Amino acid sequence: MADPITPVLTKRWLSPNSWTIQSYEALEGYTAIRKALKGTPEQIVQLVKDSGLRGRGGAGFPAGIKWSFMPPNEDKPHYLVINADEGEPGTCKDIPLMMADPHSLIEGCIIASYAMRSHHCFIYVRGEALHCIRRLNAAVREAYEAGYLGKNILDSGFDLDITVHAGAGAYICGEETALLDSLEGRRGQPRLKPPFPAAAGLYAAPTTVNNVETIASAPYIINGGSDWFRQMGREKSPGPKIYSISGHVEKPGQYECPLGTTLRELLDMAGGMKDGVPLKFWTPGGSSTPMFTKEHLDVPLDFEGAAEAGSMLGTTAVQVFNETVSVPWAVMKWTQFYEHESCGKCTPCREGTYWLAQILERMVEGKGTEEDIDTLLDVCDNILGRSFCALGDGAVSPIQSGIKYFRDEFLALCNANKRELVGAQA
Ligand code: NAD
Ligand code: SF4
Repeated sequence: MADPITPVLTKRWLSPNSWTIQSYEALEGYTAIRKALKGTPEQIVQLVKDSGLRGRGGAGFPAGIKWSFMPPNEDKPHYLVINADEGEPGTCKDIPLMMADPHSLIEGCIIASYAMRSHHCFIYVRGEALHCIRRLNAAVREAYEAGYLGKNILDSGFDLDITVHAGAGAYICGEETALLDSLEGRRGQPRLKPPFPAAAGLYAAPTTVNNVETIASAPYIINGGSDWFRQMGREKSPGPKIYSISGHVEKPGQYECPLGTTLRELLDMAGGMKDGVPLKFWTPGGSSTPMFTKEHLDVPLDFEGAAEAGSMLGTTAVQVFNETVSVPWAVMKWTQFYEHESCGKCTPCREGTYWLAQILERMVEGKGTEEDIDTLLDVCDNILGRSFCALGDGAVSPIQSGIKYFRDEFLALCNANKRELVGAQA
């Protein structure tokens, strides 16, 4: 069951007016920057490295190592960019965090900016989340008024400005380099990597792009220390994590637990399957992560555990589907999403997602053939590893895993068509 140390990131969420600076300060808020600003940037980077904090946006890249890629000199301006463009289907953790506790993100931004010698931080928020943009702007204003932002923060000599920027609603702008293009005012499309943003990011200057939950973890690490952080979770995936649970459960929502918590435990917390209808399939981290079945109830949901069982941790967006849901139908809906969101820059993804959606729509209408299953898998093989960015790879995950575990359901749709044809000929 969940480690008793948690909740950490969500501990203020149920306090009255938790989003105000008064509530934040009353519950240890802005105590971590007082400590951090007394140390050196190198000490903070080392502490975050020691904590083992890994990126919470989905990829799990070690945060302290990423911070250490920023050059020690300040020949060019350094930027910290917060990826708050939460868009992966089923993912709902960053927006609730920013709504309930925006100051934890702002305090994390101050710590991370100081550690990386950045004096300007951008928070790039998904454009549709207007309520969240308003809340963040109000919190940033409060932080300026209290002297936590602006010039000479708490008499430390350190200056920092934060700009909240609204995206325009494209899923691809969650990809870090497309996000940077969009922030620069251009059409958001992924850039070739390397160079990684630490070498040439925003305005070709050294930049670190981190997810909201990653940066919001920093104040707790400063206050609690790396050993405390490592007491939660698993050796290679330490710390607390916000799992967003949606679909056929009694109590969908955000559940903060140590990394490595299993679906069985999460279902217990979420009140079990809705109306007791049994589980059929689920995603561990959004639709870009291969689906799991009821065989995977005890897989530890951390970066290694999910990968060893054949999927990925992704964004910990646990989408739960019961026995009433058709797998080919769900796979078709996800594929339509990727087709719509493909930015069109590279051929495998642009053309491939179009054809995948066409074939799946035909199958779901009962007009598919058995060969369509092989064609689907063939198109997937030609997208996976051959696309310019992770969107293409993500698009094939539901199809490949859906056919792997539920091939019979796809076949049944094709055979229904065969029976109809035979009937028509007779
Ligand atoms: P990635 O593994 O390419 O990179 C992860 C991070 O590490 C990036 O910041 C990258 O710059 C850095 N990095 C990686 N290798 C590096 C190197 N050699 N040197 C310097 N920096 C390096 O993954 P990605 O394409 O950024 O993200 C893919 C993930 O995004 C997927 O796992 C998916 O789960 C997740 N995702 C999340 C959302 C969401 O809404 N949060 C949406 C879609 C996808
Ligand atoms: Fe664009 Fe898709 Fe290619 Fe990514 S994989 S660059 S989203 S076309």
